[in-house]
Amino acid sequence: MKIQNKIALIFTALSASIIVALSIFIYFFASESISASFFHRLEVRSDIVGHAALEESKSRTSIYNEFKQRHLGDLPFEKHRILAKPLDENTKKQLALPSSFFEEPVNGVPARFFNHDTSYVALNIARDGKEVIVVSSALDLYGMEEMANLKKLLVIGFLIAMVFVFTFGKFFSDEIFKPIRRIIRNVKGINAHNLHQRLVVDKTNDDVEDLSKTFNDMLDRLEITFEMQNNFVSNASHEFKTPLTVISGEAELGLSLAGLPAAAKDSFLNIYKEAERLEHLTGSMLSLAQTGFDGKKEQWSEVRIDELILSVKEAADKIIPDNKVGINFDNLPEDECKLTVNGNVMLLKAAFTNIVLNSCKYSDNKPVRINILADNQYVIVEIVDEGIGIPDREIGQIFVPFFRASNTEKYKGYGIGLPLANNIIRMHQGKTDVRSRVGEGTRFITYLPYKYI
Ligand code: ADP
Repeated sequence: MKIQNKIALIFTALSASIIVALSIFIYFFASESISASFFHRLEVRSDIVGHAALEESKSRTSIYNEFKQRHLGDLPFEKHRILAKPLDENTKKQLALPSSFFEEPVNGVPARFFNHDTSYVALNIARDGKEVIVVSSALDLYGMEEMANLKKLLVIGFLIAMVFVFTFGKFFSDEIFKPIRRIIRNVKGINAHNLHQRLVVDKTNDDVEDLSKTFNDMLDRLEITFEMQNNFVSNASHEFKTPLTVISGEAELGLSLAGLPAAAKDSFLNIYKEAERLEHLTGSMLSLAQTGFDGKKEQWSEVRIDELILSVKEAADKIIPDNKVGINFDNLPEDECKLTVNGNVMLLKAAFTNIVLNSCKYSDNKPVRINILADNQYVIVEIVDEGIGIPDREIGQIFVPFFRASNTEKYKGYGIGLPLANNIIRMHQGKTDVRSRVGEGTRFITYLPYKYI
């Protein structure tokens, strides 16, 4: 989930809990206050009824009743029971009210009790040496309606508030994250090809300004390191190239000498092969450095993969003359567009030569099959050998520079060729898949997007 949405949700949840707590408080406070006022109204009526009951003179009793009727009126379902003191257990049972309710009026304090929407009060009335307990009950229909309305109002208010809170929360968090999203967009656009680009730093004097500056500092350091690496690889490969050409030339000359002993011939042959191999490696590193690690686009052109693979075979023949590399053209797509990719021919050749030479090397020169096919997006080149294979747990590391699998002690190598090949394929928006079984062989499958014409 995006941070903006997370913030909006947290903000909404927080506001929701505050509004709910406030609503509960308001509801209970209103309920308490309405109920207290209703009890009070019931107590007043109860008191009048009690005094009327204790009045000896009939005319004064009717004054009480008339006064109550005219000035106070009846509450909904109002009922009064006048009980003589002391209360016997039977009466208490008939009324079905808790016994504590009857203890309070006995001690002189009015008792209040609420059950099934009905309010009960009990008053102890004493007059002229006589004492009675008046138990009155009524239903606060008006109060109940008030509470139902309040409840409805609070729920609707809560829902409307939530919609507003979420909308505003989202709007504000989107606004706050706008500069960060812009930074992410800009950083995504920076790659090895335009490492000189920098983020625009707004003078906002806040964390966003700091973040942009930090990114720019990091890009400065990256650019310097990148250039140093590029220059080093370029200079080193350049320096190696001339002596290697001299070595292989001298070895070739030695081989052509007549009457050379067999052991010396073998030696010259070995020197020649190894020098060719090293020349190939430094050549591919040089071309990688010269074209830039992003394979500068101006040196890109249309490359026919079948032709490229033929030139790879030629390069392999030079280095391992007795190799058993066979190219299978049976699955070639009929449409030649599906064989044409947009790329740097030197780099692609270096990549495939590395993979093919590895297949020859790690299979002790057993047959290596190259299949060229296409699906609806990629030209696919499969290079299949019957060699030593790669241990399962090490397959994931073979593209890491200088990594060599544990079963390669008897083979010479540097761990550079495959990472280089993988980088080149990735540079061409392609991918490489490896399937291998120790003792049975390895299959490298490269996918390069073909050029749509
Ligand atoms: P190296 O110079 O060691 O061959 P690479 O970078 O070309 O370096 O290859 C890296 C590692 O991948 C090799 O050391 C080897 O363990 C493994 N590997 C590459 N190709 C094959 C293959 N065809 N069969 C078995 N192992 C291979």
